[in-house]
Amino acid sequence: MFPAAAVLASAVGIAYLGAVSYFADRGMVAAVAEQHSGLARRVAEAVTGELRLALDATAAAFEGGGRDASDAPSGEKTAAPPLDALAAAHPIASQPIFIDADGRLVHPSLDPTASAVDSAPDQEFMALLSRAARLDPARSALLQGARRQEIGICPAESGTAPGPGCRPTPRGLSEARRAYARLARHRDTGPEALLGLARLERAAERPAQAAALYRELARRFADQVDGDGMRYSLLALIGLAEVEPGAAPVLDCLRELIAGSTPVPRAARALFIEHVRGLLAGRHLERAQEAELAGLERQLAQAQSAARLAARLADDLAPLARSAEPEARGRPALGAADRTLLYRRLPDGAVVGLALERPELERLADRAVPARERQAGVRAVVLAVGDSADAGSARALASASFGPLLPHLNLALVQDRSRPDAVAEMVRQRSRRHLALTGGLVAVLVLGLVATIRGAARERELARLKSDFVSTVSHELKTPLTSIRMFAEMLQQGVAGDDRERERRYHEIIVKESERLGLLIANLLDYAQIERGTRRYLRRPERAADVAREAVTTFARLREGEGQAVSLEVARGAEDAQVAIDREVTVQALLNLLSNAAKYGGDEHHAIEVSVAARDGGAIELAVRDRGPGIPKAEHERIFREFYRAPTAYSAGVEGTGLGLALVKRHVEAQGGAVELDSEPGRGATFSLLFPASPADAPVEPPA
Ligand code: ADP
Repeated sequence: MFPAAAVLASAVGIAYLGAVSYFADRGMVAAVAEQHSGLARRVAEAVTGELRLALDATAAAFEGGGRDASDAPSGEKTAAPPLDALAAAHPIASQPIFIDADGRLVHPSLDPTASAVDSAPDQEFMALLSRAARLDPARSALLQGARRQEIGICPAESGTAPGPGCRPTPRGLSEARRAYARLARHRDTGPEALLGLARLERAAERPAQAAALYRELARRFADQVDGDGMRYSLLALIGLAEVEPGAAPVLDCLRELIAGSTPVPRAARALFIEHVRGLLAGRHLERAQEAELAGLERQLAQAQSAARLAARLADDLAPLARSAEPEARGRPALGAADRTLLYRRLPDGAVVGLALERPELERLADRAVPARERQAGVRAVVLAVGDSADAGSARALASASFGPLLPHLNLALVQDRSRPDAVAEMVRQRSRRHLALTGGLVAVLVLGLVATIRGAARERELARLKSDFVSTVSHELKTPLTSIRMFAEMLQQGVAGDDRERERRYHEIIVKESERLGLLIANLLDYAQIERGTRRYLRRPERAADVAREAVTTFARLREGEGQAVSLEVARGAEDAQVAIDREVTVQALLNLLSNAAKYGGDEHHAIEVSVAARDGGAIELAVRDRGPGIPKAEHERIFREFYRAPTAYSAGVEGTGLGLALVKRHVEAQGGAVELDSEPGRGATFSLLFPASPADAPVEPPA
């Protein structure tokens, strides 16, 4: 019963733990997944939030600056949109787009070298016309003549165009110089005349004089333009860059060409920039000058990339201008798979937008990944809807959409496969726990099974022992009864006749057999009482030697003349030793031991020895010793069990119930004593009853 309940309880307990653990695991795995997708959502939100801010800032930049430029009068320095500040505050806004209300792309400019302020060609043209109108015909003719003298006589094949083969005459040159000097005084021919003089000085290898002339040109005619729409101030700067030594004049010129506010015709600007940069070859640059040059080149590169973007935006322009709404939205660029265009319409109908490259978006998203996750190898990836992030060395953790802002893209969180997978790690840990629980369950079940099998075997054994017991007891009862009946009948029939001696022997046999019967029945009753738990012990202080003596006397009387002799030895000092025991029960126990010694102790030459002694620990020992065959160690524990009889006892035909020693042990232990067995095969057996000694002054019953 007990093992069954224990097994059931353990199994239920373990099953409960298993179930709890199973659901906890599912919860935890779900929690980890939820944590990842929550993070992905937050990162996506951070990205869209930053994009909206950047778009707003772009709109503000164009509303505040860029658009005014086209309206400004030519030549005036107008407010440029603060695009550098915009890109600094919002790195994602490095490619802003501005389309005016008429659907024209205003920014980025198609001109790779356009400065923030573009020239206003119409006004340049007007200036040109007015200058041509003002040109005095006589002076104009003189200027042309001087120019011809300067060029000189050209080879016939060059036709009318002056070329490298032309050769001026010294006279011609001095005439030209005189004409230029005269013309330089007038406002209409002044700039060209000064340029002509400068050319003559350079041809005569007098750069200082040429520089002075360029400076005069810049001073007097800065706001005038030449026939190609080029400002004389710029031409003077270019001239100075050519004739003056050092890098400074070249840098001054480049600065004006790239970042300055002087309007320059588009076609000419690239050519001039190229030419002036070429002048730097062989000139020494200071450190600060180098830095400035790098800055200018960067600016040029940005303008060029903006121009490239502008060129590629050509196809997107119409759909962008058509579909823009006040609400910001994104769409993939037509020309480039990795580019996204984010745009919205401003209240005045213009459209502001941002060109976003996928790697830039990814960097933006990556910055939104918390440091802790980043340390665990988590990265943000931006992919087209429908693409999988779970590829190669990347393990996809979760993904989230960017919402209507970037409907064609998804954000995914990935982790390097070399890093431990949080879910897999958890599953591994958990499965170890499950394994342990399952192991525990199996162990409990196996133990339960073993206990059940052993229980069943014990039950079978008990049943067998009981049936043996019934047959032996019947036999044990029958033998003395038969004797008693037989001798009583013989006495009744007068078989003894007048033989008094014979008659006395018959009586004696009847008495002895009755006493044996009595002992047997007393044992059976005792056993029954012990089993029911109703056996009471009447413990009183007794002299141990007296108890042993009574047992020996009774045994001798029972056997009178039969079997071995029984000796009693009381050790010195143990004579008066007292023990608190139930005398009758203890005598009966000793009688059982004596009867066993006689039954199994064999040989008549060796007396059975009963001894009383005080042991070192204060215990009083009552021992029964025989010199019989002894008992093997393996049997020592078993022979004290109820109904157990050694196989040798059966085979030798010794009668018995298997109850004697069990009762001895029960009785003695119930009185606070212990039973010891000292025996080996071939060396006899000594059974000792040990009781704690009672104080000597305790009242002692007189010996029976
Ligand atoms: P029973 O004597 O009725 O068989 P017991 O309980 O008295 O039952 O003894 C149990 C077994 O112990 C005996 O069957 C016998 O094999 C063994 N035994 C008991 N006393 C001795 C002894 N003095 N020498 C050898 N074997 C003994």
